Amino acid sequence: MSQSLDLLFLGSGNAFAAGRYWGSFLLNGRYLFDASPIALPHMKRSEVDVAEIEAIFISHFHADHFFGLPFLLLEYDEATQRSKALTIIGPPGIEERLRTITDAGYPHLLAKEKSYEERYLDLRDGLEGDIGELHYLARSVEHVEGLDCFGFRVEIGGRTLAYSGDSTLCDPLVELAEGADVFVVECTCWGDACGPHLGPQDIRELRRRLGPTPTFILTHLDAGQPDLGIENVLLADDLAHFSL
Ligand SMILES: [Zn+2]
Ligand SMILES: [Zn+2]
Repeated sequence: MSQSLDLLFLGSGNAFAAGRYWGSFLLNGRYLFDASPIALPHMKRSEVDVAEIEAIFISHFHADHFFGLPFLLLEYDEATQRSKALTIIGPPGIEERLRTITDAGYPHLLAKEKSYEERYLDLRDGLEGDIGELHYLARSVEHVEGLDCFGFRVEIGGRTLAYSGDSTLCDPLVELAEGADVFVVECTCWGDACGPHLGPQDIRELRRRLGPTPTFILTHLDAGQPDLGIENVLLADDLAHFSL
């Protein structure tokens, strides 16, 4: 029998934080998808044991998606002892990029000895692998020209979850979510012109192409909670918990 997917949304907003905190979610208490600046305080508020996080998936190098990482590293240095290895997976150059932002804010942190092993993994289109019980597949999605952006499809406990990262409507996005149980998908605005992002019309088109099966959880949202009239769609919220 398959286990349910346990999702905790640490934030559910787009970069403009229009009444919501920046998007980030935790799967089964162990896998963090994007590390927004609010990720650590909201994990603590939800009494998550942050020492249990095994992997952090960074979809792309926009600040709302990865500027929370230095705070996590500081936490592991000063407040929470961890011994398990931590894998940080992100666009090519993730280790160097994290070094740059961490050195800017906490200059001596990365030179310190760690109580755990830290592994870095550069993504590329089609990369697959396993971390603990989780199997992942990454695909390049289309967001901003010249910026590496990835979506993910992960399997754990007999269930499949897809995550769009930030994306426009593109074939790899559809392929990632085909046949998935849950699709965490960005929906940046409620109107028709959402820039390099998805909006309600795209969500309707994704539902048409994917069929009724994946439960959509919309995230990376603007303020408000309009009813889009699309079947099997949930809206993420800050600190919302889903077991699906
Ligand atoms: Zn974003
Ligand atoms: Zn972005």
